[in-house]
Amino acid sequence: MHTHIMPREMPDFARKFGYGDFIMLDHIESGKANMMQGGKFFRQIKENCWNPEIRIPEYAKFNTQVQVVCTIPVLFSYWAKPEHGAEVARFLNDDLAKSIAPFKKNYIGLGTLPMQDTDLAIKELQHCKELGFPGVQIGSNINDKNLDEPEFFPIFEACQELGMAVFVHPWNMMGMAQMKKYWLPWLVGMPAETSRAICSMVFAGIFEKLPNLRVCFAHAGGSFIPTIGRIEHGFNCRPDLVAIDNDVNPRDYLGKFWVDCITHDADALKFIIDKVGSDKVCLGSDYPFPLGDLEIGKFVEEMNLPQNDLENVFSHSSLGWLGVNANQFD
Ligand SMILES: [Zn+2]
Repeated sequence: MHTHIMPREMPDFARKFGYGDFIMLDHIESGKANMMQGGKFFRQIKENCWNPEIRIPEYAKFNTQVQVVCTIPVLFSYWAKPEHGAEVARFLNDDLAKSIAPFKKNYIGLGTLPMQDTDLAIKELQHCKELGFPGVQIGSNINDKNLDEPEFFPIFEACQELGMAVFVHPWNMMGMAQMKKYWLPWLVGMPAETSRAICSMVFAGIFEKLPNLRVCFAHAGGSFIPTIGRIEHGFNCRPDLVAIDNDVNPRDYLGKFWVDCITHDADALKFIIDKVGSDKVCLGSDYPFPLGDLEIGKFVEEMNLPQNDLENVFSHSSLGWLGVNANQFD
């Protein structure tokens, strides 16, 4: 349920709008392209990053039929002017819907929203629903604003109302400028980002106010679940700082949101399943990126989980989170 894809061609938004480090693709040779950010090299990607057809046999190798696809967070463009962010999101959503349409038994799409503008985000959410996406992907912060900011609440409210699932993905990692070496933004910043997002939503009482909102957090919830003891203790010992907007113990939310299984460690995943229940843990891969679990679900299979837990992780949890029926893939 956690894979990334992008359009084969990106319009030259920087030229069109007259500013900004919008992502472009430079196709250097057959099957390879450089992602360029504001004219600078960002990352090299292969054809499986934009071609839905060639991804299907790559997944089939691991007995996986269906991929939940969403954009690459660097394409969110939350920093752009609202109307431009909305145009980028519309382009990404229409392109995604079109590119997966011929492969209905193999793909589920998640939309992108211009989160920098509440009204435009809700408008695009409705468009995503019309395109047939069962949910959307958003960032762990929006231009350094946490997800508890009041301007985001109407978006979550609209997600609940429309029955759209939300996938929260770390990006724009805190401390990035201070820890460029050793890939630390990805290894240290990302798990912290995801915990930042969960804590912000939990402490703001968003799950209290919107009990039917279905949210899944990337990378097994980052550092939130492994540090729940500390977070709970902080809630108990300094309620004057922590419990100012919601007096429910953060531990009570374990099992109320979903996470993916991307831990790369069987013991860690056992712990996560024990804490939130296997019906809240979804098979994720982060495919096609190297930090993902590219032998999709292999380590999960080798854990000798009870059959019920395995079925939850491999399909039921994702279907439950997305509100999607399995028989549409028969
Ligand atoms: Zn990812």
